[in-house]
Amino acid sequence: MGDELDVVVIGAGVAGLATLHLLRAHGLRVRAYDAADDVGGAWWWHGHPGSRLGTEGYAYQYFFSPDLVRDWGWSERFPAGYEVLRWLRFVADRLDLRRDITLSTRVTAAVFDEERERWTVRTEHGETVEARFVVACTGLLPGPAEALPVSSGDFAGTVVCTSRWPEKGPDLAGRRVGVVGVGTAGVQLVPRIAAETAHLTVFAREPVLVVPRSNPVYGWPERDAYRARFDELRATLPHTATGAEYEPHLPVDPDLLPGLYADGSRRLWLGGVVGAEEEVAAYVREAMTARLGDPSLAAVLVPTDDAGTPTLDAGFLEAFHRDDVDLVDLRADPIAAVRAEGLELVSGAVHELDVIVLTEEPDAGPPALGGIDVRGRGGRSLADAAGAVLGLGVPGFPNLFTTAEPPAPTSRDAVMTTVRQHQAEWIARAVADLAAVGASTFEAIETLPTSAPPAGAGIAGVGDYVARCEQEAAAGYPSFRRA
Ligand SMILES: Cc1cc2nc3c(=O)[nH]c(=O)nc-3n(C[C@H](O)[C@H](O)[C@H](O)COP(=O)(O)OP(=O)(O)OC[C@H]3O[C@@H](n4cnc5c(N)ncnc54)[C@H](O)[C@@H]3O)c2cc1C
Repeated sequence: MGDELDVVVIGAGVAGLATLHLLRAHGLRVRAYDAADDVGGAWWWHGHPGSRLGTEGYAYQYFFSPDLVRDWGWSERFPAGYEVLRWLRFVADRLDLRRDITLSTRVTAAVFDEERERWTVRTEHGETVEARFVVACTGLLPGPAEALPVSSGDFAGTVVCTSRWPEKGPDLAGRRVGVVGVGTAGVQLVPRIAAETAHLTVFAREPVLVVPRSNPVYGWPERDAYRARFDELRATLPHTATGAEYEPHLPVDPDLLPGLYADGSRRLWLGGVVGAEEEVAAYVREAMTARLGDPSLAAVLVPTDDAGTPTLDAGFLEAFHRDDVDLVDLRADPIAAVRAEGLELVSGAVHELDVIVLTEEPDAGPPALGGIDVRGRGGRSLADAAGAVLGLGVPGFPNLFTTAEPPAPTSRDAVMTTVRQHQAEWIARAVADLAAVGASTFEAIETLPTSAPPAGAGIAGVGDYVARCEQEAAAGYPSFRRA
């Protein structure tokens, strides 16, 4: 390293690849760093069997390039994680991004020099690089960890986590496998591995609502159909509530529920039933109980409250009908110890295992930027700073752009390709506009506690977020100081 850059991008996932491409298109010298061994972000880290999009593929695309949409075709309505990873690799290759990406390199610190108006970025390998701007495309951490309550050091077998799944993952075939957690990652993993393991024990804590995914294979007709809508999708998706075409139908009509359930998509809870969360949850609970057909299984696997976002599944509940799959309720009988041979519960029962899989939900934790020692004006730490204005810039941190900070929508209820490419476009325009007015620093303005709420407070959905960001740019960035 050592060459001066205009921009350091941290992260080479959905946000980082778009940002690198769009800033480079403005003639800037940009370099992206990622701790992972390849591009892809969360899709690289969560490479476990069953990892899959809950968003329909047609909406999970970059619409800044007609070529990318024309030359990539999803093979299913809800593509598998490895296909999403292949798509992001295709994007990196097609846009020739790899020459400006440094992989297997974690950024540990970024310090702003006020006099020189430069960021110094340090990596885990002790190298430093300088740049005028830093764009944090670092995403959200996984969580909450379905961690073992006790050290796994004594276990004679293998422990693996869904959020750090090695590319050539552990061989589960013919092994006695224990999966800890029945959140989204557990729901995706369990039916995929149940048939290949010698025996599967699922250790359940908090169950989630699940809805059977309807996932037809996509061939040329389906791909041609969504490609033909390119202009329309590019124009409309950023202005929808979720970044996909799920719009609320009001007033709420319970007669809609069977049709929405049968659609086998997130439409059931993201579209059509806003304000009817309780009715949706009750409907799904009843359907889950019927699918399980066994009150003792339902007592463990059907949530009793409406909390949490439902998730799509493919045979998760039916996996428990297999003779070689056992269910353990950790709420009734928690893990007491990790033994060389497996897990021991408080009741004294020991489950012998060769592999323990810990599950973690993608994007359920805090922003990953918190793991970097970021210092702004006066050496102030980002950890002590005010919130990010529009999720894009933090007061006291000039020329630092953020993407995964609140109030930017998250993948819980939004399509992240829609959100992240909008942010990347906004950041690229803000940098170009800065040059156009002859200024060199772009910095969020701290809102005094007595004055109006900070820009971005109380944002409701993708369309609202995009509208506020657009208004901000059109008005000449009143929430930011350009000097
Ligand atoms: C199984 C699964 C299902 C999902 N389903 C959906 C869905 O249906 N719809 C949807 O919209 N989203 C979904 N997501 C969420 C997904 O995370 C987002 O869609 C998207 O990948 C977020 O992109 P990002 O670039 O913001 O962050 P990420 O993809 O998380 O990328 C951040 C990158 O930053 C890197 N990084 C972080 N800190 C550092 C550091 N200090 N130094 C160097 N590099 C660093 C990380 O290594 C990572 O590669 C899903 C994710 C998974 C794993």
